[in-house]
Amino acid sequence: MTEFIPPAKPLIGDEERAAVDRVLRSGMLAQGPEVKAFEEEFSAHFGLGRACVAVNSGTSGQHLGLLSSGVKAGDEVIVPSFTFAATANSVALTGATPIFADIDADDFCLSPEAIEASITERTVGVMPVHLYGHPAKMDRIMAIAEKHGIQVFEDAAQAHGAKLGGTPVGAFGTFAMFSLYPTKNMTSGEGGMVSVANAEIERNMRLYRNQGMEKQYHNEVVGLNNRMTDIHAAIGRVQLTKVGGWTAQRQQNAAFLSANLEGVTVPPVAPGAEHVYHQYTVRVASDRDGLAAALREEYNIGSGMFYPVPNHRLAPFQVDVDLPETERAARECLSLPVHPSLSQGDLERIVEAVNALAKAGA
Ligand SMILES: *Cc1c(COP(=O)(O)O)cnc(C)c1O
Repeated sequence: MTEFIPPAKPLIGDEERAAVDRVLRSGMLAQGPEVKAFEEEFSAHFGLGRACVAVNSGTSGQHLGLLSSGVKAGDEVIVPSFTFAATANSVALTGATPIFADIDADDFCLSPEAIEASITERTVGVMPVHLYGHPAKMDRIMAIAEKHGIQVFEDAAQAHGAKLGGTPVGAFGTFAMFSLYPTKNMTSGEGGMVSVANAEIERNMRLYRNQGMEKQYHNEVVGLNNRMTDIHAAIGRVQLTKVGGWTAQRQQNAAFLSANLEGVTVPPVAPGAEHVYHQYTVRVASDRDGLAAALREEYNIGSGMFYPVPNHRLAPFQVDVDLPETERAARECLSLPVHPSLSQGDLERIVEAVNALAKAGA
């Protein structure tokens, strides 16, 4: 049988290994100069024009970002249900209530109309997710937030380098979280980077990250240990030098797939949006699960479903809301390999397999 095409493939090279070795040899492993340099280089690389704070995971970044923005028990934060559970988890961990709103069919991201319809007197913020690497409708979402006096918290876990109207994601909200988990567009092993809108949120982030201390043993608030290590930061710094090339490759791979796939709905890109294709997600109108199984069994091609169970139906949340576009996306979504290590032959195999299966199923 032909070689397996994995749905994702983290790329770690000699440069990352050398950087880790350099930190290990220094004997200083915990948060230090590598983390500080990574924070500055990350902000500069993506043109964020804001300070960044590194933490040990994307989820802790969201959690600390919400705490730093004053979100607390009794508050409501509007989130999509069609996302990874970390989005709603981070809200719930502050004691606030995640309010699930529907997505738009055209970009899989929060619907501005649904956001506006979900605002109550308890709403303090909205957390759009730039799902799959496509920017949410930030121009409209920022306007709604301003009109209603609520904050915007960006979940940019999957969207390093994505832009809307030339503005990078991560430069819109009170804060934005980028995940550095191995399957994301770049990695530090585990880790998260949070861009912050102002000095107050930045200081709060740094306090919460480190047990509430700026000055050692003079704790100011109740905090956590969510620090990034210098080992992880060293990996992330090397990845920053490579992520631009990888993104361009993802975009080329996506262009080939979109030009050649038949029988499935290819991912749309909104006018003015730069999509960085963390995932290349098609819609399969009938029998998505059958198509995915046949891809694996007959063609040795991996794929993914992000996400088959909407968050409002997960055990910890269980809310009775009607989210038709969320339900449809959960049923139809199928992410095909788009990662930068695919060869032209791999891309052709994916197209042939999907087109044959979609035709047979039709
Ligand atoms: C990966 C991811 C997160 C969480 O990031 P971690 O680094 O895994 O904690 C949050 N939201 C979305 C949409 C993600 O894809």
